[in-house]
Amino acid sequence: MIRNNWTRDEILEIYETPILELIYRAATIHREYNNTAEVQVCTLLSVKTGGCPEDCSYCPQAARYHTDIRIHALMQTEEVLAYAEKAKQAGSTRFCMGAAWREIRDNKDFDRVLDMVQGVNAMGMEVCCTLGMLTDSQAEKLAGAGLYAYNHNLDTSPEFYEEIITTRTYTDRLNTLNRVRKAGISVCCGGIIGLGETHSDRINMLLTLATLPEHPESVPINALVRIQGTPLQDNPKIEIWDMVRMIATARILMPKSMVRLSAGRTEMSVSEQAFCFMAGANSIFAGDKLLTTPNPGFEEDNAMFSLLGLTAMESFKNGRRQSETTLEHSI
Ligand code: SF4
Repeated sequence: MIRNNWTRDEILEIYETPILELIYRAATIHREYNNTAEVQVCTLLSVKTGGCPEDCSYCPQAARYHTDIRIHALMQTEEVLAYAEKAKQAGSTRFCMGAAWREIRDNKDFDRVLDMVQGVNAMGMEVCCTLGMLTDSQAEKLAGAGLYAYNHNLDTSPEFYEEIITTRTYTDRLNTLNRVRKAGISVCCGGIIGLGETHSDRINMLLTLATLPEHPESVPINALVRIQGTPLQDNPKIEIWDMVRMIATARILMPKSMVRLSAGRTEMSVSEQAFCFMAGANSIFAGDKLLTTPNPGFEEDNAMFSLLGLTAMESFKNGRRQSETTLEHSI
């Protein structure tokens, strides 16, 4: 049963279950709701990199930190579409475009992003964007262009948020998510572990996600990638069992959502990733870059899929294309 009325005590009880029992419980629920042999392969491209006015302590793209990322203005539409085509040929069915903006502005750059969305949608891929905060009318324009999903992570618990980001609030985040939902775009929202949060913070973040009026269709679980020059560069590496515990708890709380094993895979062995799939992860990001951080390449992932007997999920498996929805509404 899909529930949005989880209590903190219930989540605590799940989260603290001994790890092997927790994996078993999550795997059982995963089998009930999803085809466990299928994993969605997504590609994430940074279409505008660096120079961001925000202060997210984990992010090399914040202008105030001195990192060695290659800053670039918004890419040309043709370049982005060529990259999307390459990702599609390599087996990706979802293409996500990220721009290091605090919020969308109504200008030529936004018009160009709308063209990119239209172009990727026309290729038959699920198209997702992560562009910062937006207004109702911008969300509607994105939906009209065929945007399938919008990524906007909560990152951590409401209580710990201010320790990680001071340039916006948790409420700002939730308001953006509401606008995305209202425009009929599916929601991609998760968090990062390894920021220095406690187990209690992790539970509170999961509580926020699992008690939203509708669960996010996609829940990325990221392990912090420690980047030289950011305030969190010296944080300790996250243990694999912490990732598995988060994924398994998310799977039990939000059985139908795509739970994405996101950043941090380059530091995980195939066996460690296998535990994550067993615990309910059913999506990965493929391609050698995840925005600006390293990620396993397509070939490595294909070899892992073949070893583990996994297949790539086709697009729009869990929903319909924006154009179909719009069409239906207008009839
Ligand atoms: S995570 Fe996004 S909003 Fe935060 S600094 Fe990086 S690019 Fe900017």
